[in-house]
Amino acid sequence: MYFHDAETLERNKLEELQVERLKKTIGQAANSPYYSELFKKSNISPDSIKSIDDVKKLPFTTKEDLRSQYPYGLLTKSKDDFVRLHASSGTTGTPTAVFYTQNDLDTWADLMARSMYAVGLRKSDVLQNMSGYGLFTGGLGIHYGSERLGCLTVPAGAGNTKRQIKLIRDYSVTALHIIPSFALYFAAKVRNEGFDPADMPWKVALIGAEPHTEHTRRKIEEMLCIKAYNSYGLSEMNGPGVAFECTEQDGMHVWEDSFIAEIIDPETGEHVEDGEIGELVMTTLTREGMPIIRYRTRDLTRFIPGQCKCGRTSRRIDRIMGRADDMLILKGVNIYPMQIEKIIMGIPEVGENYLIELIKEGLMDQIRIKVEIKEEHFIEDMRALQGIQKKIASMLRDEILITPRVELVQHNSIPKAEGKAVRVVDLRDDEA
Ligand code: AMP
Ligand code: ZN
Repeated sequence: MYFHDAETLERNKLEELQVERLKKTIGQAANSPYYSELFKKSNISPDSIKSIDDVKKLPFTTKEDLRSQYPYGLLTKSKDDFVRLHASSGTTGTPTAVFYTQNDLDTWADLMARSMYAVGLRKSDVLQNMSGYGLFTGGLGIHYGSERLGCLTVPAGAGNTKRQIKLIRDYSVTALHIIPSFALYFAAKVRNEGFDPADMPWKVALIGAEPHTEHTRRKIEEMLCIKAYNSYGLSEMNGPGVAFECTEQDGMHVWEDSFIAEIIDPETGEHVEDGEIGELVMTTLTREGMPIIRYRTRDLTRFIPGQCKCGRTSRRIDRIMGRADDMLILKGVNIYPMQIEKIIMGIPEVGENYLIELIKEGLMDQIRIKVEIKEEHFIEDMRALQGIQKKIASMLRDEILITPRVELVQHNSIPKAEGKAVRVVDLRDDEA
């Protein structure tokens, strides 16, 4: 039933394993220029760790720390020992690079294979990887995991919907790896091309790499007639295969034998109560070439209390609610883009895409939300359209406490990003 024994370890055994691996990781990290200096300054050695709680004694590592050490400051071995690098997509600034030894790549492929196994994929499946290859980890990361599981793997890459459909039909593809914003677009395109999604060979989609709501997941499932599973990862922790849903679709299991996950109050750095939302902090436990200690992911989530019905003992995190640096403050109110998506994607008339624009109205900041409407509604009369617009604005008001400007736009009129979607643009300077 499980890919690996570690998935069902008793909690105390799992924590023992974490402690042992954390000590080893600290020892390895001390071989890097960055951590060797930091550990010396703060008097940290493998012996500082007696129990899992001692992880709190370790310093945080931030994205800025990684940037300041770019490119080699965190490597624990000579450059000759590394065989691959990836870089973060840089959604929030200059990229950071992550380096892998052959062992690191093997460990990562195992984690990915486990993740795929957990959503029911087996050797007999055919997986089409529809995310971009290249520096982005969603390409090669998923690819090698799929091969490790023994699946026939179709490295389709991003874009080109017609060709994607042809490959899927020609090779009877049963599993897709696809970014959620592209999945919505793709689903609409499949129908436009005259195919009935119910007749397609696929059964499972792995969706991740960007925040999306439960409504978006359900919409993808309905539009594609597929089961969609949330896949979480970040290049600093390898890439995908950090936390993954199982077939219960009730939160993402963190592979805790390979990572320590903590959730902290981003202001104080202290652990939040179990079940409360905070910033996810991750430590690698099985990476030799470039271990990272207590990495501040900026991603907001919570631990889901209790054990999963699937029998895996690892803790689960809730879907990512946004990033600590995504928060918009408007008229004194804190707003996360995912709150907006949650409402919009639950409205039946809404199509597949939206864009949040920050604008100036006089001296005041305002948000304008462009919402793509399904084709069949766009041909309706003015009054009906105004009705939809008002409905969206008032439902948003109930959620975010301010009334945004809502602009209905035609299907496919908002530019589609290659890769991760751009959901918020700041036009305040442009319009001043
Ligand atoms: P990168 O390292 O460039 O691939 O970006 C990693 C970031 O993508 C994470 O820190 C998250 O902000 C986001 N991300 C990845 N997977 C998910 C997911 N399943 N849900 C929400 N956000 C995600
Ligand atoms: Zn489970």
